[in-house]
Amino acid sequence: MSKLEKDLEISRLLREWYQLYKRELPWRNSSDPYIIWISEIILQQTRVVQGMDYFLRFTERFPNVQSLAKADEDEVLKYWQGLGYYSRARNLHTAAKDIVSRFGGIFPQKYEDVISLKGVGEYTAAAIVSFAWNQPYPVVDGNVFRVLSRLFAIDIPIDTTNGKKAFTELAESLLNPKYAGLHNQAIMELGALQCVPQNPDCGVCPLKERCLAYNSGKVHNYPIKQNKTKTRNRYFHYLYIIYKGKTWLSRRKGKDIWEGLYEFPLIETEQAMNFVELQKTNQFQSFFKGIENMNVSIDLANVKHVLSHQILYATFYRIEIEQETNALQSFLSISIKDIEKYAVPRLVHIYLEKMRGNLFE
Ligand code: SF4
Repeated sequence: MSKLEKDLEISRLLREWYQLYKRELPWRNSSDPYIIWISEIILQQTRVVQGMDYFLRFTERFPNVQSLAKADEDEVLKYWQGLGYYSRARNLHTAAKDIVSRFGGIFPQKYEDVISLKGVGEYTAAAIVSFAWNQPYPVVDGNVFRVLSRLFAIDIPIDTTNGKKAFTELAESLLNPKYAGLHNQAIMELGALQCVPQNPDCGVCPLKERCLAYNSGKVHNYPIKQNKTKTRNRYFHYLYIIYKGKTWLSRRKGKDIWEGLYEFPLIETEQAMNFVELQKTNQFQSFFKGIENMNVSIDLANVKHVLSHQILYATFYRIEIEQETNALQSFLSISIKDIEKYAVPRLVHIYLEKMRGNLFE
C-alpha cells in the first residue's frame, strides 16, 4: 500500500468511527460559521460538559454577529462569567464588530480573512472554514497532537516550534480534501473520546492496526513534551470593605489576567502574608489612612486557584469601617445589593457564592 493509500485508509476509518460514535452536541452539524466560531472559542480551555450551558446561553442572547457586535462589553463579559480566560470574550466582541465594519456583517469565507480576526488562531480558523465550507485546512489541537504522535510514534516534542510545524504538515498530508470538515471533526473526537491522555482503550480503536505506539507497547510514551513553562505563585488579599450598605470594586486593566472584570480592592504580595503583616504594607495603610476603628474578619483564607502557569492563593477580608477614606474614591462605590450585576472573575464568584446569605449582613 502506498503512503497516499494508507493516509486515505486512516481518514476513512476515522470518519466511519466518527459517524458511529460522535457525541451529539448543540453546535454539531451546524454549518453556520458564527455558531462554529462561538463553540470553538468556548471550548478552548473549557471542557464540553462545562461549556455546553455557556454556549446555549451565549448564543441565545447573541444569536449572530450583529447582536454580538451591538452588545455592551460588560454584558458580553457577564455572559462569560465563570468560564475564565476572559480575553476570549473580549476578542469575540472585537472580532464581531470587525466583521460588521470590514465584511458588512457577513462572516468571511477566506481563511486569510478569518485568521485576521482578533483571537482567531490557526486552529480556530481551520475549524471554521473546514466545518462550515469543507475547505481543506487541517485542525491541530491538543487532541490531534496526541492522536498523531501515537499513531506515528513521533519523538518531536509537541510544545516546540519544530513540533508544531511537523504535526501540522502531518495533519495536512492525512487530510482527505473531499471530506475536510468531517475528517477534522473525526480526528478531534477520536482524541477526545478514544485516544485520551490516560488509559486509552486501544483494543477498540479503529486505528489500532496502524498505530505504531500501540503496536510497540509505547502508548504512554506519547506525546512528548519539553515542558519549559514555569508556574508562578501569586498572593491575593481581597478587601471587602463595608460602609453604610456600600462596598467598593475596581475594574482590572492592563495585560494581566481578567482584564475588564470587577473585583474587590486588591493587595497583591510576593509572599504569603498574615493580617498583621498585611496591615504594614503601604497599600493597606493608604487605603485606611485616618481610620481609627475597623472591624476585620477573614471570610475565606488561602483559597488556592489554579490558572495556566500561575497559582493564586487568595484571602478575602471583610472590613467594616466607620468613615470613608480618600483612597476609596479611586474605586467604584456600589450598593452591596448590586454586586451580582458585575462580571467578576471566577475566584471572586466562588467567594460570592460561598458567602451568599451573609454577604449583606
Ligand atoms: S490505538 Fe490507542 S494509542 Fe493508537 S490511536 Fe488508537 S487509542 Fe490512540
